[in-house]
Amino acid sequence: MFIGHFGAALAAKKISPKLNLGVLFIACQLLDLIWPALVLVGVEKVAVNYSATVVTPLDFAHYPYSHSLVSALLYSAIAAGIAWKAFNKTKPAQELAAWTIGGLVFSHWVLDFLTHRPDLPLSLKIDSPKVGLGLWNSLWGTFLVEVGIFILGVACYLQASKKMTRKTQIPFWSLIAFLSLIYLGNVFGPKIPLGTPSSAIAGPALSLWLIVIWAYFADKKTT
Ligand SMILES: [Zn+2]
Repeated sequence: MFIGHFGAALAAKKISPKLNLGVLFIACQLLDLIWPALVLVGVEKVAVNYSATVVTPLDFAHYPYSHSLVSALLYSAIAAGIAWKAFNKTKPAQELAAWTIGGLVFSHWVLDFLTHRPDLPLSLKIDSPKVGLGLWNSLWGTFLVEVGIFILGVACYLQASKKMTRKTQIPFWSLIAFLSLIYLGNVFGPKIPLGTPSSAIAGPALSLWLIVIWAYFADKKTT
């Protein structure tokens, strides 16, 4: 899943309007922000396999540290703890921030579970059972679910960000347009060539961090 994760972060703005969208984007995509670095250092493995799924030819052969259920729970707890520490001024806000951030980090695994074929390990063990409901085997099913979550997220964000000015509208809407274009390219565009080395897959994936920075500045004036 790609755009659906951002949809979850945009929707979370309605629950915790004080949290900047850049922070929410880090939370919703934390697993995918960690993953490229682990592939680049050779700890996790990815390859191109056209029989993997209809939507993506990426074969996530080994990624327990970024995408196992155990890792996702651990990252969620750590992220919630950091949010708890960072928002320690007032009690309800602190609790809300911790739950929102922790929940968003874990939402990544849940949404990946929905879309991936059974390639998500439950634990770090090499022989761990792998799970995934395989929505990626349906092009239009994936498109409808992901776009639905994204549109819902944008609607929630707009409701929560009443202080949007002209200055913040341009970076926000250009971000939404940019994410939509990348998504359309991913789903309907040309597939990544067979034999592409894992570094050439993971390297560009690091640019996800630029989207986080973009979201931070797009939302700066509304928080
Ligand atoms: Zn993921």
